[in-house]
Amino acid sequence: MPRSRPNNRHIAMLSVHSSPLGRLGSRDTGGMSVYVCSLATELGRRGYRVDVFTRHPEGRNGPAVTRLSANVRLIELKAGENGYSHPAELYPHLGSFFESMEHFRAGESLRYDLVHSHYWLSGQVGALAQREWGVPHAIMFHTLGARKNGAMPPEEEPNLRLQTEERLVRTCHRIVAATPREGRDLERLYGADPERIRVVPCGVDLELFRPLDRELSRRALGFSPHEAIVLFVGRFSPIKGLERLLEAAGLLGDHPRLRLVLVGGEGAGAPAPRELAQRIAELGIDGLTRFAGQVTHQRLPEYYSAADVLVVPSHYESFGLVTLEALACGTPVVSTAVGVMEQIILPGETGCVPSGGSPAAFAECIRGVLLDGARGTPEARARAREKVLEFSWSRVASAIIDQYTELIGTF
Ligand code: UDP
Repeated sequence: MPRSRPNNRHIAMLSVHSSPLGRLGSRDTGGMSVYVCSLATELGRRGYRVDVFTRHPEGRNGPAVTRLSANVRLIELKAGENGYSHPAELYPHLGSFFESMEHFRAGESLRYDLVHSHYWLSGQVGALAQREWGVPHAIMFHTLGARKNGAMPPEEEPNLRLQTEERLVRTCHRIVAATPREGRDLERLYGADPERIRVVPCGVDLELFRPLDRELSRRALGFSPHEAIVLFVGRFSPIKGLERLLEAAGLLGDHPRLRLVLVGGEGAGAPAPRELAQRIAELGIDGLTRFAGQVTHQRLPEYYSAADVLVVPSHYESFGLVTLEALACGTPVVSTAVGVMEQIILPGETGCVPSGGSPAAFAECIRGVLLDGARGTPEARARAREKVLEFSWSRVASAIIDQYTELIGTF
C-alpha cells in the first residue's frame, strides 16, 4: 500500500495558466488539469510533498493556499490581470510570477528538490527556478506550438511560443512525452536530444471510469434505450475537429435512431454557440443533436456507458484522455490517428481509426461500429476495458517517480 507519510522529497509542480481546480471542458481546462491533479494526488499518496503553483483565476494578489489532497497544496499567485484572450498574454508576467513563488518559498523556508512544469508558459517559469534554485527541471509540454501550427486547419501559435519551446527543449533536464509520436515530434520540430526524452503515457481513474448499466445510464440522462448514441467529449476548439464529426453525422442522417451528444463547451477559437447551431441546422442534424454542456468527471461515466461509440475527430492530440476514459467504461472509440490512438484502438475490437480522416470515412467507421451489435455486450465491454487497465494513475506516478529519482540523484 503506498505511503501517505511525508518523505523528504518536495516537488514544485507548475501549471501556471490552467488551474487543476478549473472547470473541465472550458477554455483552458482539459486534459492537462486532469493530469496535474491526478499525478499530484498519487505522488502525495506515496509521501511526496507537492506544491502546485498556478495563477489566481481572478488575477488577485496571492498567495492563496488550498489543500488539494494528502501532502498536496495548491498555491495561487498573481500573474496578469483577470481575463486574457490568449495564454501568451501571460508571458510578460512570468518573471513576477516566479518572484512570488520565490517569496512564498523563502517565507516558508522551503527547499524544493525538483521542478516539474506543464505547458510552455510553466516551462519558462521552471527555467527560472532551475537557474535560481539550482534544481533539476522536468517538463511536459502537453501540446507543441509547432505541431499545432502544422495541423489542418493550422492554429496560429505565436513565434514566442515556438522559440520558448525550442529553448526549453535544449535547457531543461528531462522532457516527459506522452507518446512515442510526441517524442518524434520533439526531435523533428525542435531538434530535441532523444537522450533527454522519456515516454510516460497518461492515465485514467479506473475506479471512477468503469462500465455502468447502459439502460440505467440512459434513463438517468433522459436518452431512449433504442437510440444509437454517438458521443463527443471535449472543448469545442477547431483543433478538436468537431466540424468533421458534424459532417459525418449529416452523412449518417439516414440512420433511423441516430443521436449525437456533444459534451463540453467553449474552447480557444471555438465557434459561437449561434454559429454552431446554424451549422448543425445547415447539415440537417439539429433534430438529432443534443448539447449536454460541460459535464463533471463524476457524471461522465454515465455518458460513456450510455453511448454506443465515442468519436474523437481531432486534428491533433498530444495523448487523448477521453479515449482512455471511454474504453475504461467499455465503449468503443472512432478516432483520427492522433496521440495514443493507434496503440489502444484495435480495429474490430475497441473501435476504428478511419483512414484519411474524411467525414465520409468517419461516417463509414461509425456506421460499422453501430451495426456491430456484439460490441455492446457486457463481455465485449469488459474486453475493451481490459485494453486500458495498464493505464492507471498509479503506474504513471511510478514512472514519473523513476524520472524524479534519477534526476535528483544527479544533482
Ligand atoms: N472533460 C470533462 N468535462 C467536459 C469536457 C471534458 O470532464 O465537459 C475532461 C475529459 O473527461 C478529459 C479532459 O477533460 O479528462 C480532456 O482531455 P483530453 O486529453 O481528451 O483533451 P485536452 O483537453 O487535453 O485537449
